[in-house]
Amino acid sequence: MKIIDFMAYELIEKINNKEIKVIDILQQTYENIEASEDLIHSFISLSKEEALEKARILDKKLDNGKQSGKLFGLPIAIKDLICVKNNLTTCGSKILEGYKPPYNATVSDRILEKENAICVGRTNMDEFAMGSSTENSSYGPSYNPWDFNRVPGGSSGGSATCVASGQTIISLGTDTGGSIRCPASYCGVTGLKPTYGRVSRYGLISYANSLDVIGPISRCVKDAALLLKIMAGKDPLDSTSYDIKVDNYTNDLDKPIEKKVLGVPKEFFGEGIEQSVKKKINEAIKISENLGAEIREITLPHLEYTIPTYYLIAMSEASSNLARFDGLRYGEMYDNPQSDVFEVFSKTRGEKFGEEVRRRIILGTYILSAGYYEMFYLKALKVRTLIKQDFKNAFTQCDAIVCPTMPTTAFKIGELVDDPLQMYLMDALTCPVNLAGLPALSIPCGFDQNNLPIGFQIIGNYFDEHTILNIGNLIENKLNIYRKIPQIIRNKK
Ligand code: GLN
Repeated sequence: MKIIDFMAYELIEKINNKEIKVIDILQQTYENIEASEDLIHSFISLSKEEALEKARILDKKLDNGKQSGKLFGLPIAIKDLICVKNNLTTCGSKILEGYKPPYNATVSDRILEKENAICVGRTNMDEFAMGSSTENSSYGPSYNPWDFNRVPGGSSGGSATCVASGQTIISLGTDTGGSIRCPASYCGVTGLKPTYGRVSRYGLISYANSLDVIGPISRCVKDAALLLKIMAGKDPLDSTSYDIKVDNYTNDLDKPIEKKVLGVPKEFFGEGIEQSVKKKINEAIKISENLGAEIREITLPHLEYTIPTYYLIAMSEASSNLARFDGLRYGEMYDNPQSDVFEVFSKTRGEKFGEEVRRRIILGTYILSAGYYEMFYLKALKVRTLIKQDFKNAFTQCDAIVCPTMPTTAFKIGELVDDPLQMYLMDALTCPVNLAGLPALSIPCGFDQNNLPIGFQIIGNYFDEHTILNIGNLIENKLNIYRKIPQIIRNKK
């Protein structure tokens, strides 16, 4: 039995029916990783020993009929900025090289301890989640499994490449301005950004804390629903997590969507959107219409201010959040007995942070400084409220919003890396969702002329992940391309 052919929910059933041993699954997982890692570089670190050890323990439990947990024995890859106890967690940065947190993030606790999934390794990412291509990782870029000359998207690039290539079945990413949906779109997998506050951020190393959300990356919508159910819910350790009932997301995935109204914002289809992307998105919209949904044109008038608003807020928060990495509190210290405290701080931060992170800290500090605060930061907060209001108005007319996830398919490695502004513009369709705090799903909806995947984005109302998963699942069934994966692993073996 080859695990590469199965979705997570199918494999869970096979484990519980004793059709396959947990140790076999883990061994296959590492074989798959070893067969393909030099081509795509999904991981910053692997925890093979610990994972195999846990697999053996779980198999014993299974033999004794003592298995417990909804993800029992399932391998999962975790983005490198979500704390896993005693497991390397570097945020893709040299400043945290060798850092092993002494505690679990709440999601790690729920997934690994409570539900008994097994962490196989830590996935590659743009340093501190700043980027849209994973080229800003201090450990080298990841490569798109559909075309190794192209980026996988970012910042959760490794979490998408490992799932897209079949190295693992599910992973965790984070989404501050699109970092789950962008790589999901570029790599042809499913990515879910939950409502802000739906999933605890405790143990997630912050980039921009008013925007950051943890979410799953998977090969199908049902697996995303399964994971969300486990991750979601109030956490006393995170005051921004909401105490709102967690739906049973897997229950109504096949419910008809006949009475649903889908809003199509005209601003999401303007210039900058590639023709091939428009074509496939329109086809997916047509599918929803055939499923009985009503399609309605809507408008989000302040959308054009998204990028400046997002980057002003994200950089300001980043400059404050990253102040703790000074070599004294966190991070490896520049060590020279001759140096005074200022030199230690500036050398540590100057040498260990990468270029993009330094750029954002400097800009963020500038934005927050006296005199500029009102001009930039406060103004951005006001525009954020207007964008939020646009969405609130839109949701009085529709149940969900559908549009492209990214304006283009995956671009070439190196193409935008020296042009940060162009790279920022890539986030135009994902960032508004974060500014508003809404949930959104990206599912693959086809390929362009170069055989590169295209992502279809479904944006929901607050805490209505239920509806977007339902719509996504029905469209996925109709499209029926979700089992298609690039041939890397099969060819290499
Ligand atoms: N590309 C965006 C940025 O660089 C989004 C990153 C993210 O969601 N973590 O800020």
